[in-house]
Amino acid sequence: MDNNEFNEYNQEPRQYPRQNSQRPRKRVSKETFRKRQFAALCVIAFLVLLFVILMAKACSKKPSSDSSGGDAVPAESQTTDVNEEASTEDPAATTTVTTTTTAPIIDPSKAGAIKLDKYTVYLEVGQAPALALITEHPDGMEEADEVWSSDHPEIATVDEWGHISAVSPGTCYVTVKSAKDPSLEATVKVVVAGEPSLEQTANNTTTTTTTKEPQSARAEAPAPSKINDPKAHYEGDVLIVNKSYSLSSDYNPGGLDPTCSEWFNKLVQGAAEDGINIYLSSGFRSYDYQSQIYNNYVGIYGQDTADTFSARPGHSEHQTGLAIDVNIIDDSFRGTPEAEWIAAHCYEYGFILRYPEGKQSITGYKYEPWHIRYVGTEISYALHDIGPDATLEEYYGIDSKY
Ligand SMILES: [Zn+2]
Repeated sequence: MDNNEFNEYNQEPRQYPRQNSQRPRKRVSKETFRKRQFAALCVIAFLVLLFVILMAKACSKKPSSDSSGGDAVPAESQTTDVNEEASTEDPAATTTVTTTTTAPIIDPSKAGAIKLDKYTVYLEVGQAPALALITEHPDGMEEADEVWSSDHPEIATVDEWGHISAVSPGTCYVTVKSAKDPSLEATVKVVVAGEPSLEQTANNTTTTTTTKEPQSARAEAPAPSKINDPKAHYEGDVLIVNKSYSLSSDYNPGGLDPTCSEWFNKLVQGAAEDGINIYLSSGFRSYDYQSQIYNNYVGIYGQDTADTFSARPGHSEHQTGLAIDVNIIDDSFRGTPEAEWIAAHCYEYGFILRYPEGKQSITGYKYEPWHIRYVGTEISYALHDIGPDATLEEYYGIDSKY
């Protein structure tokens, strides 16, 4: 034991007297220093690694918690939320509101549910075909909600009713959206052909002049081209379709006569200049479609009553592509500013009010302030000169009886 103690003691100078003797102390301290240095480096490295791991965890946690609510939120709706709240609440509160607000998710089945009759329109410079393009409004959307716009108005403009006017050659896109729900939209590609620059300016001037002309001077709306149907009955240039004269069941022009369409556009523009909104509610109707309408009315009212306001198939002017029902197709249209404007001005654009009031025994139909027929200005002015209630039957001395 003693020996051991002694030995221990004797050994001490080798191990402990580092402070006393310089040489061994230096050697030992160098080793220890290296060990300590290594240990310190390990600790630092560990701490750095720990710090990095913690930071990485902290960073990755933040965005993932945002994305649970934020990914589904479209950028637009976030902006809207912030704008709505920003005025009353501090930014921190706004952010909270933004992330917790349920985003209005756009239903893809609803988007684009506005149905159009065509998705590409070919025009020439100066043409304004006043197309009533929408064939179906989605649920909850009305005509009044339509917001029309053109991405290049220098190529084609569009008015609040969707009437497209060609301005200069090029291609642009006309879009209609719902004012209530802008996710409901439809787009029409508009291709405008024509001479550029000088010609274009001249055309624009001409268009402006012609649309305003009917206000002061007589416009020259031509009679429409004659149709190719062996049953068609003409008086002069005027196709007659009434209870006495009908069309073949297979006569189907597929749409409005182009001249009629062109002049209806001008009528709409002229009305708009007077602050009147005229729009097409029913244009061309096929033989089969008229059969459905007529048979439906016969089922409800009986044939005698149905015959006073609905044409039998083959006897409808709508099958000609030359008749248009404007705005509201029922008695509530009577006496409205729109009905009065139509009665007073449609002849300026080559149209006549086909079934005037008090002429049921002559035309075969009761008063229809919404139904106009295109005949061209030669005939429309001739009838207008006779009187506001003049009819084709009286003018040509023909009947309208089944
Ligand atoms: Zn009609």
